[in-house]
Amino acid sequence: MTQAALVRYDVGADELRQREFSRLASFVVPTLEALRSLTPRPFRVEVAHMMERLGYEVITGEDAAYLVTLKTGAKHLVACGSPATFEPTPLRDLARLHDAVIAANAVSGFFVTARRFTPEAEAYAATAPLKLVDGKTLVASMQRSREGMIMPETYAAMCRQCGEIVKHRLDCAEAIPCTEGHPVPPTIALAALIAPKRSDGSGGDDAAPKQSSRFEVRQHNAKFQARMRRGGTKPKQ
Ligand SMILES: [Zn+2]
Repeated sequence: MTQAALVRYDVGADELRQREFSRLASFVVPTLEALRSLTPRPFRVEVAHMMERLGYEVITGEDAAYLVTLKTGAKHLVACGSPATFEPTPLRDLARLHDAVIAANAVSGFFVTARRFTPEAEAYAATAPLKLVDGKTLVASMQRSREGMIMPETYAAMCRQCGEIVKHRLDCAEAIPCTEGHPVPPTIALAALIAPKRSDGSGGDDAAPKQSSRFEVRQHNAKFQARMRRGGTKPKQ
């Protein structure tokens, strides 16, 4: 076996692993903590995909200062706050979005943050064509946007020795052989998609533990029911 062949399949296998992880991750409602840990660009991408699932057509690139979206012919702008910024979004940011809504002939603007808004910002939005989406609302919207989406049970992985694609099950953590007999270990750990809940219940500053845990219980229940349907009994921590 040549070194070149190894390199080629390694690259393909890594790309497939990344692609499959992203595909499966799109089915999982992110936690508030996970959203807050994102850098601005992936956060914006998450929000753009959520808007699309909610029926908005996103017509700008993900790097635009404001995402421009269309729903039933009406234009809506979407601004995203920096997920890592601890301070609540101030009035100034909403006034800027308001200006952009006017300049773009849009009907409304959404300001989406994984944090909160100042009371002044909330008061401003109440009398302007602006809708505020704070951390709690965002997680609820992420959940709503995925209603009816069922996590696939299988994903593809590539044999690094011969490039053959094998199908792994998310609930099975054992290597399976390709037709050449090379072992292909699972490339995705279920827990990397669905973070196990910390038992001490600790959360962020305003992480709304009740709300989050209800969603996680629903996710857990769905997983459990799926497992029972398949007849599996393997306990998961
Ligand atoms: Zn193989």
